[in-house]
Amino acid sequence: MKLYRNLLVLVALVFSQGQVTAQAQPPKLVVGIVVDQMRYDFLHRYSDHYGDDGFKRLMREGFSFDSTNYNYVPTVTAAGHASIYTGTTPSRHGIIGNTWYDRNLRISVSNVEDPTVHIIGSAVPNPNGFSPAHLLTKTITDQIRTKMGPESKIISVSLKDRGAILPGGHSANAAYWHDYETSPGNFVSSTFYQDSLPGWVAEFNSEGRSEAYMGQVWNTLLPLEEYDESAPDDNGYESLMRGKQAPVFPYDLAAIRDTYAPNEPYLNVLWVTPFGNTLLKDFAIRALREEHLGQDAITDALCISFSSTDAAGHTFGPQSVEVQDMYLRLDRDIAELLQVLDQEVGKGEYLLFLTSDHGAQPVVSYAVEQGLPAGLAVIPRFEHSLNFSLSLKYGAFNWIESFGTNEIYLDHALIAEKGVSLPEMQQAVADFMKEQPAVSYALTATELRENKYDSGLPAMVQNGFYEDRSGDVILVYEPGFVATYDFRTPITKVRGTQHGSGYEWDTHVPLLWFGAGVPSGASARRVHPTDVTPTLGRFLNVPIPEGATGQPLLELFEPARGSN
Ligand SMILES: [Zn+2]
Repeated sequence: MKLYRNLLVLVALVFSQGQVTAQAQPPKLVVGIVVDQMRYDFLHRYSDHYGDDGFKRLMREGFSFDSTNYNYVPTVTAAGHASIYTGTTPSRHGIIGNTWYDRNLRISVSNVEDPTVHIIGSAVPNPNGFSPAHLLTKTITDQIRTKMGPESKIISVSLKDRGAILPGGHSANAAYWHDYETSPGNFVSSTFYQDSLPGWVAEFNSEGRSEAYMGQVWNTLLPLEEYDESAPDDNGYESLMRGKQAPVFPYDLAAIRDTYAPNEPYLNVLWVTPFGNTLLKDFAIRALREEHLGQDAITDALCISFSSTDAAGHTFGPQSVEVQDMYLRLDRDIAELLQVLDQEVGKGEYLLFLTSDHGAQPVVSYAVEQGLPAGLAVIPRFEHSLNFSLSLKYGAFNWIESFGTNEIYLDHALIAEKGVSLPEMQQAVADFMKEQPAVSYALTATELRENKYDSGLPAMVQNGFYEDRSGDVILVYEPGFVATYDFRTPITKVRGTQHGSGYEWDTHVPLLWFGAGVPSGASARRVHPTDVTPTLGRFLNVPIPEGATGQPLLELFEPARGSN
């Protein structure tokens, strides 16, 4: 069997040499890093305080695509991870959000939930199951496994379930994520991948690292007065952590934990701190070593998605010292990761990319104070007035089945029963919603099916629309508006930020390439995160997934600048 596999690999290598490729030997390891909610400007805004060996090393020795923007809405974590690794948009891979309304089940479902499997490694029995079953197309990681055979290993890690599961695709050896709802905060997996945790994961869990971090104090890495790229530490735009009177350093995690009731989960606190990223970095390094990734000629992949950046962004907002401090520490974590990769796999032997799943908009209360466009799209008010309008026109029934942040689902059975035309009612809803001051577009499912939009926000809506899962009417808000279910808090009192729109602050992300075969340089050409997978396909001489719509980034395959 071993001989047969080796023969297959040999055939694969010989075959690959017959094609035009960037390099004769594929890299030993692909490392994909996704930093949740990392806006492009964070690369440069904090750069005075970054070290030489983290983000700056990636930019200095690698290649930066400075105009990388998402080309669909909504810009959220699940859709972002799925798009990076499949090379296409939600219209094709089907991950239209972190959750969506399921018309058959008549409830909201999560992007990675799967009742046919269950969690392994949780400290308490957990009936929930997670897998990539909702992901409708193949990922580059699937293609690596298919092409390289069973000796190729794909391991994907994140604090978030979706950040681990979607990058690994359908054929990862394992995905691991952090069980924050149950102390001691194990890294867990799913029976989709394996029946029980491997020994090294159980051992890592037994070390009690999550709990140890909960005994620490988060203080600024540098003296506070050096954080002049951010707003003052004490400001009115940041959410308060439990037990805190002001959103300021230091954060004594043990004191915050003490405010929780005995049976109340508290490890979500860890997610909001830089220790969440460091915990994941340590777990990723352990995976690299224990799974012997990148140790032979058969390409492996290690997908690492850092989630604490998103948790801190939502809590404190992009103007905060807290978010800046988290990036300064992540920069150190990435420097360490690169050093370990150099050591364990070898300089130039691995291919790495770093990007983000989405950006973030300014905190709306901050924007108001700065005189920038901002507003609230209050969903319960919309729902109430829309219901009233539909009742006047079509009769007093509950026509709206679900009103999400950007999508309205109508009750198709009721509409059929009452003999109303569905396209007509969709249009009536869209016409009403367009009149609302917060709304810039309202597109119906019928319009999206029958027309082809080439540019602008309607094209982004179309790229994010998957008919079996999407609503009857899709809403796009004016720049600076955020959807909220909270009708009590005035805009000047809103704390922390959101993302999801098709505007620059949510769509513009870093895209850095580094390592095996990557020239040093930069490009300002407008590209998309969906180009990552076709580019990896070309680097690895692996077929691009059938569903991919992105393009290979050809700048990476041109002769190095300065050479003749
Ligand atoms: Zn988020």
